[in-house]
Amino acid sequence: MSSLTEKDIRPVQLMAKQRIAALTDVGRMLSRCSEFVHVDCPACGANNATRKFEKNGFSYVECKTCHTFYVNPRPPSEVLDWFYQGSPNYAYWNEVIFPASEAARLERIFVPRVDQLLELCKKYSVETNAILEIGAGFGTFCAEVQKRNVFRRVVAVEPTPDLANTCRGRGLEVLEQPVEQIQLGIGELFDVVASFEVIEHLFSPKDFIGHMFRLLKPGGIMMLACPNGQGFDIQTLGIASNTVDHEHLNYFNPESLAGLLAHSGLDVLESFTPGKLDADLVRNKILTGEFDVSGQPFLKKILVDEWVKLGGAFQEFLIQQGLSSNMWVVARKPHE
Ligand SMILES: [Zn+2]
Repeated sequence: MSSLTEKDIRPVQLMAKQRIAALTDVGRMLSRCSEFVHVDCPACGANNATRKFEKNGFSYVECKTCHTFYVNPRPPSEVLDWFYQGSPNYAYWNEVIFPASEAARLERIFVPRVDQLLELCKKYSVETNAILEIGAGFGTFCAEVQKRNVFRRVVAVEPTPDLANTCRGRGLEVLEQPVEQIQLGIGELFDVVASFEVIEHLFSPKDFIGHMFRLLKPGGIMMLACPNGQGFDIQTLGIASNTVDHEHLNYFNPESLAGLLAHSGLDVLESFTPGKLDADLVRNKILTGEFDVSGQPFLKKILVDEWVKLGGAFQEFLIQQGLSSNMWVVARKPHE
């Protein structure tokens, strides 16, 4: 299998329209900036952040205690609900980009993701009666889990009606409601609760973790994946990084997210950064002229001049050392 590249999952010819939709969305979000509220650090709760940068009218600050950076002030949950319901950017992703890139996404993202999850279940001797994914989207992950026939029950949480329909169309059991509204009896709790690329969008990550915790069986495992704000492409590109955008309010790092989970009553088992795209993302920004490395000969050597020889090994180094911009944290809910 060849290595994952940015254009596999974000086809170039489709992304121009997406950028227009995203800019429309920036305007929609900012139209309600008078309702934005100031918050303390979403990871550790400290109130000692310093200004980091501004992008598209949003202010980013960095916590001096845990180095999480975050949008502050930020849209409250009711503004976010309104925003995502009417987002032309989301509609375009859902109707055009995801369907056009789904085969590549399945092979390059979801199959390895499910492999990883099943490996972790084995490693930590997790029971495999029932698994819940929060923010299932198209249901690609859940459908792949179902196909492996390891879990007896696979449930997708997806509150957006169109996406919930897509999940049901794939034969998945769907809870079409926000996670905070889900009520389960004690016998209905899950062995695994997973969420991929959701927590960075939320007003209150702490509340979200609380709801995941509530739906987990004692001894069950929580798996979370999100951007690593201390990872290579985000740190190198800063505001030029596509990950730094109006939808992503929280930029945790492996330590700060682990701290939040521990503070929420979970035993953190491990964190790792399996992201494969950092080097390719920075390289693409150099090639398009959006990021200037003329004063950085070392980066230019790795990412441009000797890319074929060094690019893959450099990405492997980032993954091994916990420096890639996509991370996982795995934690267990203690037995009472
Ligand atoms: Zn903090």
